[in-house]
Amino acid sequence: MTRIDHLINGKTVAGRDYFETVNPATQGVLAEVASGTEVEVNAAVQAAKDAFPKWAGLPATERAKKIRALGELIAKHVPEIAQTETDDTGQVISQTGKQLIPRAADNFSYFAEMCTRVDGHTYPTPTHLNYTLFHPVGVCALISPWNVPFMTATWKVAPALAFGNTAVLKMSELSPLTAARLGELALEAGIPAGVLNVVHGFGKEAGEPLCAHPDVRAISFTGSTATGNRIVKTAGLKKFSMELGGKSPFVVFDDADLDRALDAAIFMIFSNNGERCTAGSRILVQQSIYADFAAKFAERAKRIIVGDPQDEKTTIGPMISQGHLAKVRSYIELGPKEGATLLCGGLDRPSYAAELPAHVQRGNYVWPTVFADVDNRMRIAQEEIFGPVACLIPFRDEAHAIELANDIAYGLSSYVWTENIGKAHRMAASIEAGMCFVNSQNVRDLRQPFGGTKASGTGREGGTWSYEVFLEPKNVAVSL
Ligand code: NAD
Repeated sequence: MTRIDHLINGKTVAGRDYFETVNPATQGVLAEVASGTEVEVNAAVQAAKDAFPKWAGLPATERAKKIRALGELIAKHVPEIAQTETDDTGQVISQTGKQLIPRAADNFSYFAEMCTRVDGHTYPTPTHLNYTLFHPVGVCALISPWNVPFMTATWKVAPALAFGNTAVLKMSELSPLTAARLGELALEAGIPAGVLNVVHGFGKEAGEPLCAHPDVRAISFTGSTATGNRIVKTAGLKKFSMELGGKSPFVVFDDADLDRALDAAIFMIFSNNGERCTAGSRILVQQSIYADFAAKFAERAKRIIVGDPQDEKTTIGPMISQGHLAKVRSYIELGPKEGATLLCGGLDRPSYAAELPAHVQRGNYVWPTVFADVDNRMRIAQEEIFGPVACLIPFRDEAHAIELANDIAYGLSSYVWTENIGKAHRMAASIEAGMCFVNSQNVRDLRQPFGGTKASGTGREGGTWSYEVFLEPKNVAVSL
């Protein structure tokens, strides 16, 4: 059995206890993973603290060489990392191999370039010259969820290290394998021991002591709103960015390019198995086109291929765990009880499992499910399901669309489809969300501010927005 250990100060450190990570398609055990506690967390934070002065003191161009080398190593190993990620998470190979792992490599080349361009500001007055310096903050706690773990981890590791910080990375206990590989590749790229440490384990035992540690100066957390709230309460005074849950509106007006809107709507709720923070999970459709849109949407959803995530043709793989499967199924059961109409998917087709290849028939599968006649106040519309379950909600006019879009605790992303440019801009300005995509699915530019508002979090990452958590500005005022 493969064993995955912690990486602390450049060395693998055996666990005092281990847990199993399971392939959600086959239920086979992939590896035994070290289960960290305060002991390993303390050792990792100490290693990061010791490594910090030397790493922060390197010229940015020197750090950039190593960060770029890590990106190149990831790019070289895309097929291997993608296969491991797909085994560990159930995310389909067409996504991990062509999008997610290559994007992870890009994160390093992008921030390698950026760290050489950090500049300051000057504020001259007749009596003083003020200027700003940007310093790395020190030891950063980087905490990732399980849905696209490698990409999310690198989105944090790349800027943290490039800007001169050191880090302790804790991945989700449900998807630890590729992070272990990231630690190995970082050493191979010449990043010194202690600069990137990886501690595996559970939230309570490993995540909590890491966030509470007094030597940790910044926390970059991606995960659920409930955990984000807990961390904010226990962390004390630290810099942080919180990338949390979502229930994003996908608004389709009757003047939209319907075919393109349908394609994007399908993609935004069913790609990544629906386990996507920016999923367009509340599809608001103008009443005049609602029936037509709903019929066409369900027709497309029925054609989606559910199957072995390692098969290039598969669009939807298994849910990450049996616990998460039970949660998604509970919402599929709830929909009709709340009065929604099931257009496709659901739980009661016994033939479903038989449609799967034999080796994945015990996997954590649900089929793409579409609910129509959804009221925005229903729980299926208000709560994050984090699975392939779409809610189609009718609206009357622009004002009603805005009211429904904003009638939600979350505020991560949003999508607006209309050919009317004025309406598009008004909607973009009115929707309470960190991001709005107009006539587009979620297409990410590494310079854009990524993050949400309301219960979707606080802080932004990406481009210079990553300064907010990973750099400390200092003003220097010189009397003239
Ligand atoms: P989660 O909150 O259960 O766990 C996330 C991470 O936090 C894991 O590594 C976990 O071990 C750790 N953790 C748990 N309790 C902790 C504690 N008390 N202290 C410190 N760490 C702790 O979330 P999840 O189920 O792994 O991920 C799904 C959630 O993540 C969804 O809500 C999804 O929307 C969100 N997400 C958000 C974004 C974004 O960018 N906004 C991206 C991806 C996922």
